[in-house]
Order: sequence, then structure tokens, then C-alpha cells
Amino acid sequence: MGIKNNSRRNFINKCFSSGCLFLGGMLLFNCRGKNESSGDESETMIQSNLNDPCNDLTDVSDGEIKKRESLGYVKQSAVPNNSCGNCALYIPAKPDKKCGGCILFKGPVYVEGHCIQWAAVTN
Ligand code: SF4
Repeated sequence: MGIKNNSRRNFINKCFSSGCLFLGGMLLFNCRGKNESSGDESETMIQSNLNDPCNDLTDVSDGEIKKRESLGYVKQSAVPNNSCGNCALYIPAKPDKKCGGCILFKGPVYVEGHCIQWAAVTN
């Protein structure tokens, strides 16, 4: 009986310790993977935003991003002679900025951009 209890106890200890090792390993692996990937992504995103500031949506809310998507905003117009730069709803870039804006949604807008709400300027 004493030997049986001892072997049962050993078995439970082995299961517990191998389970802990497995869980610990999984936690370590997952944490390491997230940190590496988010670091790479954020570095790439920062570099991309420096090169292309009109594409920087880091301070724009998800709701505003959805608005621009629902309007079919594209950074390069495919419609000849129609672009944000000659749209009545375009907000020209401030002197110290490279990107303009749009009165329909927040965030930077390319002067060459376009969306389905393009409106001719009338004087
Ligand atoms: S309404 Fe559309 S085309 Fe006009 S400025 Fe805004 S995003 Fe550009």
C-alpha cells in the first residue's frame, strides 16, 4: 500500500511538474512572439508614416477610419480631373503641413485623393 501511494504521488508530481513546464513554455513563447512582432510592426509603421505622412492614421479613431472607407476614399484618384485638390469639401494643407483634410471625416487627405462624395467647386 505504501509503495502504491508513493508511486501514485510520484505520478501526480510528474504530471503537475510537466504540466507547469508546458504552460510556462507556452506563456514564454507567446509573450516573446507578441513583443517581437509588435516591435517590428510599430517600427515599420513609424518609418512608413515618416515617409508618407498623409497615410498616418495613428491618431484617427476607428469610427473616422470607417467613415473614409465607407466613402470609398483612395489616396490616388482614378477619375480624370476629379481629386480632393479640386473638391469643394477639401480642406487645404496648412503652411507647415504636407496633407490636407476633408470636412466629411477626420485625418490626413492626399490632394490627389478621391471619394464618392467629390463635389465640384462653385464660385
Ligand atoms: S469629399 Fe471626397 S473627394 Fe472631396 S475632399 Fe473629401 S475625400 Fe476628397
